[in-house]
Amino acid sequence: MARNLVFRVIIFILIEKQRAMAYYADIILPLSLPKPYTYGMLESQEKHLKTGMRVAVPFGKTKVYTGIVAKIHQDKPALYEVKYIEEILDETPIVTLKQLEIWQWIAAYYLCNIGEVLKAALPSALLLESETVVELNKEKEIQVEELSDQEYLIYEALQQKSILKVQEIMGILGLKKVLPIIQAMATKDVVVINQELYKQYKPKLVRYVKISEAYRDQEQLTAFLATTQKAAPKQYEVMLSYFSIEASTKKSITPKQLAAAAKTTPSTIKSLVSKGVLDEYYLQHDRMGFQGDTAGSSPVLTPHQTAAFEAINTAFLDKNVCLLHGVTSSGKTEVYIKLIEAQLQQDKQVLFMVPEIGLTTQLIARLQRYFGKEVQVYHSRNSVNERVETYQHVLAQTKGKIIIGTRSAVFLPFRNLGLIIVDEEHETTYKQYDPAPRYNARDISVLLAQKFNAKVLLGSATPSLESYDNAKKEKYALVELTKRYGNVLPPAIQLVDLKQKYKRKQMTGHFSDTLLQEMKTCLGEGKQVILFQNRRGYSPILECNTCGFSPQCPNCDVSLTYHKHNHSLRCHYCGYHIAMQLQCMGCGSTEISTKGFGTEQIETELKSVFKDYKIARMDLDTTRGKYAYEKIISEFEQQQIDILVGTQMLAKGLDFRNVALVGIMNADTLLNYPDFRAHERCFQLLVQVSGRAGRTKEQGKVLIQSFNPNHQILQQVTTNQYEKMAEEQLYERKNFKYPPSYKLIRVVVKHKDYNAVNEAADWLTKAYQNAFKEHVLGPEFPPVMRIRNAYIKYILIKVPPAYSLQKTKAYLERINISFSAIGAFRKIRLNVNVDPY
Ligand code: ADP
Ligand code: ZN
Ligand code: ZN
Repeated sequence: MARNLVFRVIIFILIEKQRAMAYYADIILPLSLPKPYTYGMLESQEKHLKTGMRVAVPFGKTKVYTGIVAKIHQDKPALYEVKYIEEILDETPIVTLKQLEIWQWIAAYYLCNIGEVLKAALPSALLLESETVVELNKEKEIQVEELSDQEYLIYEALQQKSILKVQEIMGILGLKKVLPIIQAMATKDVVVINQELYKQYKPKLVRYVKISEAYRDQEQLTAFLATTQKAAPKQYEVMLSYFSIEASTKKSITPKQLAAAAKTTPSTIKSLVSKGVLDEYYLQHDRMGFQGDTAGSSPVLTPHQTAAFEAINTAFLDKNVCLLHGVTSSGKTEVYIKLIEAQLQQDKQVLFMVPEIGLTTQLIARLQRYFGKEVQVYHSRNSVNERVETYQHVLAQTKGKIIIGTRSAVFLPFRNLGLIIVDEEHETTYKQYDPAPRYNARDISVLLAQKFNAKVLLGSATPSLESYDNAKKEKYALVELTKRYGNVLPPAIQLVDLKQKYKRKQMTGHFSDTLLQEMKTCLGEGKQVILFQNRRGYSPILECNTCGFSPQCPNCDVSLTYHKHNHSLRCHYCGYHIAMQLQCMGCGSTEISTKGFGTEQIETELKSVFKDYKIARMDLDTTRGKYAYEKIISEFEQQQIDILVGTQMLAKGLDFRNVALVGIMNADTLLNYPDFRAHERCFQLLVQVSGRAGRTKEQGKVLIQSFNPNHQILQQVTTNQYEKMAEEQLYERKNFKYPPSYKLIRVVVKHKDYNAVNEAADWLTKAYQNAFKEHVLGPEFPPVMRIRNAYIKYILIKVPPAYSLQKTKAYLERINISFSAIGAFRKIRLNVNVDPY
């Protein structure tokens, strides 16, 4: 008996000792799990493992995932049998403690799982898993001798089958631990993971000729012409043609155009160039102002810009965030450049956030001109490998200190951040709508800066009301730039009353006589025109004149948009499309009319009125290709396009030198959008689009066509009264309990069954009302109530300023957990969007 007891005690002590020595790691997996999972580790692993490293761990029956170590501890999980870490994938941590803190903050603030944050935060090539697909890198000549035996086996298998899953590779090698091998192959660029390579677009440089400085001199020229008239009649002809083209159009002249006009060959022009009479030049360079400027020398600020620069520096002495409200074309970029320069002198990293990469090639080129190799670019159009490289460079602080990036750049592993610039801070692209985390990168940048004691500069010509409100409440500093660079006047904005124009029959298609007249004048002077219509396609609605039938999407609650160029009817929500119907699908009548209009219809109308001009369109349909944006932008810059028609893409900070007129086809759809921010957005969009006009010397013109020219927002746009607009809108927001006064949380319920959505939404609404009383709105179907076969219902919770946001969220989550536990609701998709705008 006693012996037995002693035995037991000894065993107990042994177990305890072992338990005391066992280590566990909480691993964040890139999955929608409520919490990190705890894994065990071997003694050999324990010495090496650190928080922030990647590990390969088993999950479920057969899967392997890459996860991040969030915490190392000795608490054995009580509720489940631990599995063991299979492999440690890093030598040193690749996620910093600051990043982990930010992830936790995001998960808590936006009510999502930390695994979802991880997935958004790391380039997918760092998160290999058993489902990952691997391909050979076709861009690279692979040196077979340099591959290890295992790598060679994978290489060989990929010759047979071009795509392999990691799981299949495990089978081929007869090995479970394959992630490090694949990772090494990806690092060596032998394979690519999950994605195709992104190729850099190189804008085509167009060659032009102009008369050289020396021959601008009248005497020189006369002498030259006198001798060539007989000796080289072809050259003489070219010179005459040159002057006649120059007199009739103010545009640049290509050698080809000149040769055609003089009825000669390009070789004649070449000889004129070699004689030094004509100079060749490339417009791309001209526009960028390369000449005379040596790369690396920073711009000389104007007195206004200097004042703003100094005001920002002073503001940063006691505030962390500064809002730079600078009118379009005031040279905000130049001020940014000076601020960046100061950071580089202190060896700090700078994050420069932009709303969209495709539309910022101009800006990137400008920054690269000043900072050369210090600039790195990080965005979703990079290849996966490129993104991994940038990630590693930021982590190791090798390569450039300036990172230009879209919203996901806030997740980079900064070490020594000094400044974050958020350009066009009002842009909605900073918010991620789907999937979770539904974060706003502008807001996270403030938090990120705090972690480093760094500063944030928010820049915009039309600040968001949130930022403006923060500035008015002195949470943020406010600095203004009210003058355009070079003393260019702000564009003259004029409203055109469509009601009158229709009544007086002064319309041609969707163009008023006023707009047509201004366009003719502008084009006649060799200037360019931008036309804005916030809708793509030819016409959003097709309607039968006999029975009123209009074709609808079978999957979504919207009518199909008519696209003329490919004779199709398309759904803009799910992509469903059918051929254009010549007969009504209801009654067979052939009398079908279109209602409303999009960019394509404008383009068609333009082609019949302005036959001699080159017209192009920039919207989602024409910019799908890889380099489509860049192509249109550079062609427009090089003046190969005279009239550019487009959607809101045109509003995003583009800097064109030769645009004298901007026409807004119809402002009313913007004003009537059913959203509490519609007026703010309309103001921002119109001011931004208008800002594309007259950016050099001569004042630009803007014409806004509308059925409601007296609308207060349109009046405020024409008189450029941002403050008045902001004060009025903020007052209304307060009255109607909307942001920034109140916080909003939107709960979205989705399911393919209509009744199920209604029941679920009713249940939730009741539960929320019990907790939050009158602060719950809905449930309500959004304007498009069914998308991709799923019905959608919104419930809106308004959080008053006096309430604790944290407590509200905790309560909300508890309700949602009870909801999910109800069997009947298990299939309902529920998502929560904090700050859903
Ligand atoms: P914003 O971003 O405020 O709309 P930009 O920074 O694009 O304005 O500036 C408008 C134009 O004026 C650009 O082409 C820019 O190169 C030019 N510019 C502005 N400030 C200066 C300066 N100090 N020196 C030279 N060019 C300038
Ligand atoms: Zn019909
Ligand atoms: Zn659809």
